[in-house]
Amino acid sequence: MDGLFISIGRQPATELFAGQLSLDEGGYIIAGESTQTEIPGVYAAGDVRTKQVRQIITAEADGASAAHHIEQYLLES
Ligand SMILES: Cc1cc2nc3c(=O)[nH]c(=O)nc-3n(C[C@H](O)[C@H](O)[C@H](O)COP(=O)(O)OP(=O)(O)OC[C@H]3O[C@@H](n4cnc5c(N)ncnc54)[C@H](O)[C@@H]3O)c2cc1C
Repeated sequence: MDGLFISIGRQPATELFAGQLSLDEGGYIIAGESTQTEIPGVYAAGDVRTKQVRQIITAEADGASAAHHIEQYLLES
């Protein structure tokens, strides 16, 4: 054997939000591409949100999307 990679699975650190925000069966915060959650003004960006691909570039994209939508939300509030 030349190498071994042990995968321990994934567990998002979202316990803090249980009961406050809807989580999917994996424990990820339910939010779409806008990063907006079910609660107006509350956003979830990066690996914590429901998505297909969790990588640095998708987390960064979420940050940009969240910043844009938060600005819009604040301007309209
Ligand atoms: C082993 C491994 C290898 C990977 N390799 C790659 C790769 O090669 N290329 C790639 O693109 N992606 C890779 N990824 C995925 C990439 O690391 C993540 O998609 C990315 O880091 C997500 O960024 P994030 O900011 O959403 O979350 P994180 O980088 O996980 O940042 C979340 C931060 O929040 C902090 N935090 C958690 N709870 C609290 C709290 N209650 N209060 C305050 N702070 C808190 C954590 O300590 C952490 O610093 C890899 C991931 C793993 C686990």
